[in-house]
Amino acid sequence: MKMYETRNYDTLIKPAGIDGTVEAARLLKSGEVVAIPTETVYGLAGNALDPKAIAKIFAAKGRPRDNPLIVHAADMEAVRGLGLEVSPLAVRLAADFWAGPLTMVMKKVGDTVPGEVSCGLGTVAVRVPGCPAALDIIKACGFPLAAPSANVSGAPSPTKAEHVYADLKGRIPLIIDGGECEVGLESTVIALEGDKARILRPGAVTAERLREYCEVVIDEVVYKDFTGGGSAPSPGAAHRHYSPKARVIAVTADSDEAFKAVAAGGCAIADPEARTLFAKLREFDEQGAKRVYIKLPEPNGAGLALYNRIIRAAGFNVVKA
Ligand code: AMP
Ligand code: MG
Repeated sequence: MKMYETRNYDTLIKPAGIDGTVEAARLLKSGEVVAIPTETVYGLAGNALDPKAIAKIFAAKGRPRDNPLIVHAADMEAVRGLGLEVSPLAVRLAADFWAGPLTMVMKKVGDTVPGEVSCGLGTVAVRVPGCPAALDIIKACGFPLAAPSANVSGAPSPTKAEHVYADLKGRIPLIIDGGECEVGLESTVIALEGDKARILRPGAVTAERLREYCEVVIDEVVYKDFTGGGSAPSPGAAHRHYSPKARVIAVTADSDEAFKAVAAGGCAIADPEARTLFAKLREFDEQGAKRVYIKLPEPNGAGLALYNRIIRAAGFNVVKA
């Protein structure tokens, strides 16, 4: 791990398109890691079937070795080749939500996906990304890509190529620039439990939409602080997340006026939006902000995913206006 981290790459940025796809696929086939755009956030991709490439992803990000990766596949047929239990509910959800920002955690029934991807768990998280640039690269490779967010572990996720460059410059050979990510927050992660879906991480595919297909449980990990210990149902929840250098204070307020009164004197995000939240946190850091106040949305509908990211960015520091 150390050896890789000391390797100095001359990190290139290439626009998404045929040339970029060819170069990304060439590097990925040689066992390298490449940052790619997706519709959620930028991902740091490597061959999901190659333990050495997986090790490079963890090293480049400084990602804790117990936080499993999401496997990005070209389509349902490719997912079927991964030795996972694809339940009838998974097939129904995939038909309507793939390609798109829904990740499904499936039981392993074979060893196609190496244990390194899911940190030795008996399950693997998979999705088919909706972003054409990501899909083109996966298809050009001919194998699925493990791709966590392309930030240094703990920092806000990257929604622009320049965010990836700021974090991973010198640590990876190539960034494919597909412009600003459409969604701006990571995918919804659900665990499939028979006819039930358990939301482990909220995202653009909301609980309300999933309820049209099945019973949906929102796991307590979505609201609760597991960073101090305790056995989190989704291993990622045990770690610090989405945090800029500035101190983030999440604010519940009944009115804009009440929020403004609390946020006076600091930087403020009065009306957080998924697409811009992480970019704004990075901008405030560049300006040397010490404190950032963010108004918490109601934890339902599309607001739940924002709520989840904001309380984590704030280290669960929530004040009432
Ligand atoms: P990131 O790749 O940074 O978007 O994070 C991936 C998220 O998916 C983390 O919160 C992981 O804990 C979660 N995840 C990945 N694989 C699994 C799995 N097998 N079981 C439960 N959660 C998972
Ligand atoms: Mg991440």
